[in-house]
Amino acid sequence: MAIESVGIIGAGQMGNGIAHVSALAGYKVILVDISQTALENALKTIEKNLARQLEKQKISQTQMDVALRNIAINADVAALSDVDLLIEAATEDFDLKIRILSNALKHIKQNCLLASNTSSLSITKLASTTDRPEKFIGLHFMNPVPIMKLVELISGAATSSETMATLTHFAESLGKTVAKAEDYPGFIANRILMPMINEAIYTLFEGVGDVEAIDTCMKLGMGHPMGPLQLADFIGLDTCLAVMNVLHDGFGDSKYRPCPLLVKYVDAGWLGVKSGRGFYSY
Ligand code: NAD
Repeated sequence: MAIESVGIIGAGQMGNGIAHVSALAGYKVILVDISQTALENALKTIEKNLARQLEKQKISQTQMDVALRNIAINADVAALSDVDLLIEAATEDFDLKIRILSNALKHIKQNCLLASNTSSLSITKLASTTDRPEKFIGLHFMNPVPIMKLVELISGAATSSETMATLTHFAESLGKTVAKAEDYPGFIANRILMPMINEAIYTLFEGVGDVEAIDTCMKLGMGHPMGPLQLADFIGLDTCLAVMNVLHDGFGDSKYRPCPLLVKYVDAGWLGVKSGRGFYSY
């Protein structure tokens, strides 16, 4: 099936990035969020990020203009009635995601493909709540979407090979490289990344090192472009906690227990860059 238009639900840091790269690749994009402020901020962010790409001569003025023309924002899910692919990129919460999907199903076309950008939730389980599990896939972009080359594609138990092929082509048309994963908690990327971030938070919690020492060890000692605590702030501490809970519940193994300091920061509303404070201040 050919994809020409893309609907995205959730206009946060991931949703706006997915809208950005899709519009730049020539797709018509409709970005939906319950928050009008999130929608307006998403457009501002996309414009700012496109301008940065223009300044670095990665794109032309025409490409930037076309990309901006390709994006529409809307607070009403009914606006998605004609899209070929719907990408759910709302907050990492299973019950919220199934509510969003069931509402969207009332409006979208029969043959519209469904994808979730979830960091860790079961694709099989999300798909089973819809009327089209064979057309459902995990499409896991990395943050920041316009810069990171990887898209993890996750097959649920019922995902068809046709859906996998169409979405592989879609991800590649955005200039991304695909890594295919089976549907187990955290898939590949977060199964490996999040326990490392959680361990860095334990290292801070237990006083082994301060924020700067921990991040310096991993940057200069391991060649990571960003330390794990700074990366956690960029991802969002609420998302990190949600993923650790999925790993902990899904595997029942205590090695995945979320660090109490991470829980405390999330309880305090210190979510990292998006709230202005996490392990660092922004
Ligand atoms: P975010 O908090 O920046 O954005 C979430 C958005 O969802 C908000 O704008 C919120 O208003 C919106 N939303 C909430 N309920 C909604 C509803 N009922 N209808 C429409 N919109 C609704 O979060 P994010 O970092 O963009 O994460 C979104 C998804 O992407 C999550 O599933 C997360 O796990 C996943 N993800 C995040 C990262 C990361 O690094 N942050 C990376 C890969 C995947």
